[in-house]
Amino acid sequence: MIKLKQYKESIHKCSKCGLCQESCPIYAESGNECDTARGILIFLKGVINSEISLTRKADKYLNKCLRCGKCFDVCPSEIPIEDIIFAAKCKYLYRSFSGLKTRISQSKLIRNMFCKPQKVNSQKFETKALYFGGNFKDALKLINNNSIELLNPTETDWGKDFLLSGNIIRFRNHLNEIMRLIENTNPKFIIVDIPTDKFKHIIKTYGGYSPNIEIKYLGSYPDSSHIVSRYFNPYYAEELIKNFKEKVRQ
Ligand code: SF4
Ligand code: SF4
Repeated sequence: MIKLKQYKESIHKCSKCGLCQESCPIYAESGNECDTARGILIFLKGVINSEISLTRKADKYLNKCLRCGKCFDVCPSEIPIEDIIFAAKCKYLYRSFSGLKTRISQSKLIRNMFCKPQKVNSQKFETKALYFGGNFKDALKLINNNSIELLNPTETDWGKDFLLSGNIIRFRNHLNEIMRLIENTNPKFIIVDIPTDKFKHIIKTYGGYSPNIEIKYLGSYPDSSHIVSRYFNPYYAEELIKNFKEKVRQ
């Protein structure tokens, strides 16, 4: 797991010059200093020094960050803010109930017990795709109804749970499996429920991959900062249905 403590030195390097404030798109919207890299670093310094707790309220500020990297581009101290925010997020999730639940549900034993491969009828499909979205039954139905052969019927997701629970080693192994699957199945495109750019950024950052294949985002939100909560929201599935046809045919 990536440790927040390993960034202690970087966090202390913040001179509070405020250059990051001007470039932060979240600050531009909210006008709240707590949303900026400077605000977050001040807070995380308190966490590292055990003066403040990483509470759910604090986690909301971490979630707002789009990981756009604009603050890093202007930071004279070259502080890896995105990585620090990510490490803080991992720390929060690791200690949370959902982190514990995820670690249990993703254990090999549990996966082997419950994730059984399904049979697919291949011949009638017009095109082939890999879907790394999780296990929306509606999404799978949509994919089939659009004559798309799903090449990974076990509903493998892109590893969100590993990533968000801070298990980076497991996440990298998962990415390796995904890339092997892409190589072996030769899909026309892959479908994810996280914005394409973000997905590309994540697999490049954590796996070093830039697949030469079209990636389509299944959802309808321009950013995925709230994707985790929407993931379990039935209305999200409805929006997904509304937008899917158009996105796949584009
Ligand atoms: S630009 Fe860098 S050094 Fe300046 S306040 Fe922001 S994070 Fe700190
Ligand atoms: S990476 Fe986060 S904190 Fe930095 S500019 Fe982008 S949204 Fe703001």
